[in-house]
Amino acid sequence: MSTETHHKIQVGDISVTMVSDGYFPASADIFPDVDGDRLSSALDAAGITSTAEDIPPGGYASSVNTFIIEIGGKVYLIDAGGAGMAPSLGKLTENMAAAGYRPEQVESLIATHLHPDHIGGAAVDGKPVFPNAEFVVAAADHGFWTNQDIINGAPEDAKPFFMMANAAVDAYADRLRLIGDNEDVCPGVTSVALPGHTPGHTGFMISSGNETLLIWADIVHQEDLQFDDPSVTLIFDVDPEQAVKTREKVFDQVAADRQLIAGSHLRIPAVGQVEKSGSGYRFIPDA
Ligand SMILES: [Zn+2]
Repeated sequence: MSTETHHKIQVGDISVTMVSDGYFPASADIFPDVDGDRLSSALDAAGITSTAEDIPPGGYASSVNTFIIEIGGKVYLIDAGGAGMAPSLGKLTENMAAAGYRPEQVESLIATHLHPDHIGGAAVDGKPVFPNAEFVVAAADHGFWTNQDIINGAPEDAKPFFMMANAAVDAYADRLRLIGDNEDVCPGVTSVALPGHTPGHTGFMISSGNETLLIWADIVHQEDLQFDDPSVTLIFDVDPEQAVKTREKVFDQVAADRQLIAGSHLRIPAVGQVEKSGSGYRFIPDA
């Protein structure tokens, strides 16, 4: 795994910096339809089989990436990482500092969705980590995670997810902005609804001049499995069937358009392009 903690690219006049929050120790059983041997051989083929003691046997270190958008001297942050989920996470502010950014500069904290690995670092003890930022999230995601009937009906093991989502949005309750699809979120950044993984799971298209970058969030969780076979789902997909449909549609589009993409769980630097390959696709990381 790359030891880079941040990686800056230029999209026209906009600079986009991938900032790592660390990694999540992922176990093999998060992919319900993939047996351990299949994941092991995929990890072996990619040369990322891990013997680190915090990685479950047969599992892997899943990158957790955030993205800083800087335009015209203003700073926006897409996702806040997963502080609190594992000791190997929560490196965002430290890695932001290494990239030359401070939490006070962030004007908007823009969540791709309200899963704990994306908003865990938004607040500490109910206080915003980004004191001057509004909190931007899709209305569809906010509506799902804060709906008391859905929370009451959720299985016990899913309840912590709801609690963490609510803790994050509550910390920013007085400056919450709910968005829809295809909305201008900040200068040069437009929302792209990518439902399935969560109801309001959202990507962001960064555009400046004739250059674009699609930050597609969690379209891919495990690149060694899901490019080749987009039908691989995750136990955390709220609507797995829709997640697969969305993944296939996005792969198809970005391959046809030779669209540069960046992802929350792709290996660092987590930027590249997608090509059709056999019955599936393959990822060409940005050199
Ligand atoms: Zn995620």
